[in-house]
Amino acid sequence: MKRKRKIAVILIGSLLLTGCAAQLEEIIYASKETTESIFAMDTYMTVTAYGAHGKEAVAEAVKEIQRLDDLLSTGSEESEVTALNQNGGGILSEDTAYLWEKSVEAFEETKGAFDVTIYPVMKAWGFTDSNFQVPEKEMLQKLIQKVDSSAAVYDAEIKNLQLPQSVEIDFGGIAKGYTSERVAQVMKDCGVKSGMLNLGGNVELIGEKPDGSKFKVAIQSPAHDGNYLGVLQISDMAVITSGSYERYFEEDGVTYHHIIDPTTGYPANKGLLSVTIVSQDATLADAYSTALFVMGTEEAISFWRTHTKEFDAVLLTEEGELLVTEGLQGAFSSERAYHIIEKQEDIK
Ligand code: AMP
Ligand code: MG
Repeated sequence: MKRKRKIAVILIGSLLLTGCAAQLEEIIYASKETTESIFAMDTYMTVTAYGAHGKEAVAEAVKEIQRLDDLLSTGSEESEVTALNQNGGGILSEDTAYLWEKSVEAFEETKGAFDVTIYPVMKAWGFTDSNFQVPEKEMLQKLIQKVDSSAAVYDAEIKNLQLPQSVEIDFGGIAKGYTSERVAQVMKDCGVKSGMLNLGGNVELIGEKPDGSKFKVAIQSPAHDGNYLGVLQISDMAVITSGSYERYFEEDGVTYHHIIDPTTGYPANKGLLSVTIVSQDATLADAYSTALFVMGTEEAISFWRTHTKEFDAVLLTEEGELLVTEGLQGAFSSERAYHIIEKQEDIK
């Protein structure tokens, strides 16, 4: 009898001990950081996972980035996008079908400010191969007639996309957002509950920091001075920035950047230097960051007012004014002065 009780005590004791050990292991592993950096999609990317499954998750994340880069790169002869452009369309893979559908949604919502059929114009400027040049005005006028996503014929049932002659697509304005969405999912599937992706300044947060606090995401300043426009304290969100400072060239003292206004064929020039979108939908955030840059300050604000449930934004105007939408109040902080844009237009 005594002996039995002793065994029971030992058993309970060892169970408690293994429970503690497991808990302890979890605490140690929770803050364990696994990070890897790679160069893909023309930019430096960093993938970070916290916790027990980090190593495997980061390895899977890198594979996923490379898979999508191979699929979407306009610079590669082997990519699916290149094949679509060369063949005037075709049956889309699951990824490109999703991207096309999201792109068309953004095209319609933004009344054409976001248009992936911009590719021939990007080529004319040399942004696709870094052979930069200012195209003739007549040439741009001819090219923009073909920039129109609504001219493509798409059968969603069988994912068949047919592009009219001379129409070519470039997912450059949406691909990084989609990639971060996919990579975050791959990492979550590996069991990651906390992590961060930084795809060339576009950030996606998985959950919260291991200690349960929010991540701090700094928004880069276009001035290249190492300063930040501000810091966002958030979790489980995508933070995606489009700026004229990201890719540009100079000719005869004029700077030409890579975000093109589809109505003119010229770099968008409506008063904004940078647009940051904060949203749970990284793909949409990427499309909207490009689109709002094209729209310019006034239109971007009106657009946000009709989409407040989908995203928030931080805008920097050419005059140096920093505008932050109401939903980020509390999350955004800055040493600079900034103005909160309210959901309801201020009628004075
Ligand atoms: P982002 O940095 O997300 O603003 O994307 C810029 C990239 O999007 C460019 O390098 C082009 O590949 C593509 N792009 C430029 N202008 C547009 C536009 N108006 N609509 C859709 N994509 C665009
Ligand atoms: Mg974009």
